[in-house]
Amino acid sequence: MSHPPQRPATRVVHAGWRPDEATGALMPPIYLTSTYVQDGPGRPRHGYEYSRTQNPTRFALQDALAELEGAACAFATTSGMAAIHTLLLTLKPGDLIVAGNDLYGGTWRLFTRIQERFGLRFRFVDTSEASVFEELPEETRLLYLETPSNPLLRITDLKAAVAGARRVGAEVCVDNTFATPVLQRPLDFGVDYVVHSTTKYIGGHSDVVGGALLARDEARQEDLWFHHNSAGTCDSPFDAFLTLRGLRTLDVRMERHCANASALAAWLEQHPAVERVHYPGLESHPGHAVAKRQMRAFGGMLAFDLAGGEEAARRFLDGLGLFQLAESLGGVESLVEIPSLMTHASIPPEERRAAGLADGLVRLSVGIEAREDLQAALEAALAPLVPARKS
Ligand code: PLP
Repeated sequence: MSHPPQRPATRVVHAGWRPDEATGALMPPIYLTSTYVQDGPGRPRHGYEYSRTQNPTRFALQDALAELEGAACAFATTSGMAAIHTLLLTLKPGDLIVAGNDLYGGTWRLFTRIQERFGLRFRFVDTSEASVFEELPEETRLLYLETPSNPLLRITDLKAAVAGARRVGAEVCVDNTFATPVLQRPLDFGVDYVVHSTTKYIGGHSDVVGGALLARDEARQEDLWFHHNSAGTCDSPFDAFLTLRGLRTLDVRMERHCANASALAAWLEQHPAVERVHYPGLESHPGHAVAKRQMRAFGGMLAFDLAGGEEAARRFLDGLGLFQLAESLGGVESLVEIPSLMTHASIPPEERRAAGLADGLVRLSVGIEAREDLQAALEAALAPLVPARKS
């Protein structure tokens, strides 16, 4: 599917849109039906047979997402995990997946605790080091990346990743949850698949769980559709509606998320209680130059290490207002979490630490509130942690 030469702000509002054929309704009706009438056996009246297989509300979301990512096809799933799972279902026992070593903890758990049992093999590497793509094992079937990664905001060079994968005949999948298609379009770099947790920025309001799997090549559509339909990973019409409703404001929300996160990252970087800030928009970030090349802006997620480690992180949480302590991210409200104790607790501590994820790392999902209020809340929580000056 070609996408019109419009700016992202226009595209998110119009992508995949068409009025309802039956009524002219401007917004897609929520087709809450499990099945559809047939005029004779195997002769569905309007081509729709069963909602796991076809649902107009889900199709409306899929069309919008496909257009935004520049994909040939999109499949809306019950969750981000269901999208990743659906892609892996198309592989076969023995296939090798090379994946980033800084991934959402649930993805790591799906790979190592479920998919390995069914014969897939995984190797975890630091994909922010472009040299790893020169040494990909010949048998690599899929390269699986998050950029920016969760939670360390590491950046993978998409051009280098695709070139390395092509050399060994592997396909590439990018989890584009943190960036969203308004900041980064991996398929434009030759990536084969994009997955999303639409629970996050695309839904945008922390009121719905969902995911999406998209492919660049039309030839992949039938196989992905077969697995999506057969495994029943399809999104519900109601959730698809909510996700599409959120999607229409994605560009304006991302603008504020990015502006707030950039300003807070710069401010945190000079704060005496903070040891290190992980935000790809900072010049000090090792992936800054690559991020500048492949992203329009740097996103609303940031993480930081406190000088006092885990103990300081717990004290910081006690003093923090405004930011809610919760898992998830990408909603309009600001959230805070400690990955080692929450979103990434399913990864054994030794593996987490080896990947550079410190026990006291604090992750912020910076919302769209007034930046001054967010900064004041952070300052109040950080002030008691400032080490006493040596005289
Ligand atoms: N990918 C990333 C980067 C995530 O952060 C998450 C969830 O936090 C997921 C995938 C999984 O998505 P879901 O919770 O919608 O299943």
